[in-house]
Amino acid sequence: MKITDHIKEAKGETLFSFEIIPPVKGHKIQELYDNIDPLMEFKPPFIDVTTSREEYVYIDRNGLLDKKLTRMRPGTVGICASIKHKYDVDTVPHVLCGGFTKEETEYVLVDCQYLGIDNVMALRGDAMREEKYFQPAEGGHEYAIGLVEQLNDLNCGNYLHDTMEGTNCADFCIGVAGYPEKHLEAPSLQSDLKRLKEKVDAGAHYIVTQMFFDNKKYFEFVDAAKAMGIDVPIIPGIKPIAVKRHLNLLPQVFRIDIPQDLIDAVDGCENNKAVRQVGIEWAIQQSKELKEAGVPVLHYYSMGKSDNIHAIASALF
Ligand code: FAD
Repeated sequence: MKITDHIKEAKGETLFSFEIIPPVKGHKIQELYDNIDPLMEFKPPFIDVTTSREEYVYIDRNGLLDKKLTRMRPGTVGICASIKHKYDVDTVPHVLCGGFTKEETEYVLVDCQYLGIDNVMALRGDAMREEKYFQPAEGGHEYAIGLVEQLNDLNCGNYLHDTMEGTNCADFCIGVAGYPEKHLEAPSLQSDLKRLKEKVDAGAHYIVTQMFFDNKKYFEFVDAAKAMGIDVPIIPGIKPIAVKRHLNLLPQVFRIDIPQDLIDAVDGCENNKAVRQVGIEWAIQQSKELKEAGVPVLHYYSMGKSDNIHAIASALF
């Protein structure tokens, strides 16, 4: 079922959902199940599964380092299929421009169709660690809007290099990313919003936001998006701070602000167990306010161990 239909069916009730990361290759899927199991009591209508870009690894060959390009966390669509089957829940694979040609993307989307996956999150991906700027794969999309257009083409029955008669239309519900504090490369929030509007005009059906720690940023973003004519659901993404290092890491990686009260609370913690508790309490307060404001879904970035998401959801759902 489509995310937008889940939202319609909920008739104004806020839904609970979360995002998981595939394990590093060679690890068992049971590790994921162990973290998903406790969250199923909150009846998420959908679970997102991220896709990771390829990265360089260095293999020691008799003292000489061999540089190889590899994807350390493959298996997104397979994981989506197994979770869908095991828990009878919708799954949302993230599809990236970075590292994929248009053809490879089409093959992934055809797999999704066969597996009954109705929703896809269309994302550009970040630059690789070694790159200063994002570089698309040769024959790949430069921006997420290219993916949205490709998905929309499939929804109209137009496959790449279309030489076949009688192809069926896909029916994907398309999600895209939005940034309440603007995307780190965007020259301004207004120009980033214009790009977001272009993605919606190209066929995106809903938006999931980057994490934020100050709800005001989300509310202002939604108002600005609406003023620009963006009328699709905007789902807030929430990440509980879990370790002290997040105070520096999250602003550095995502260019987001952390409110001073939260910084002070984390700084005052003696260990990461206490930080995790502060993160839970902050996320509960954030979530309560967002729920009262009637957001369609509260979407949590789980990043591995789910005990903190469980504690937050227990206070809300
Ligand atoms: P785009 O929409 O393409 O925007 C990228 C930048 O280009 C923005 O600054 C935008 O303003 C600008 N821009 C857009 N179109 C144009 C244009 N035509 N001309 C000039 N500038 C333009 N990353 C992963 O690797 N894997 C994941 O699974 C993943 N999941 C995510 C889930 C969510 C909810 C979010 C918010 C992010 C996720 N990311 C993921 C991170 C995402 O890939 C990065 O933030 C990436 O840098 C931008 O992706 P995008 O889809 O927003 O890009």
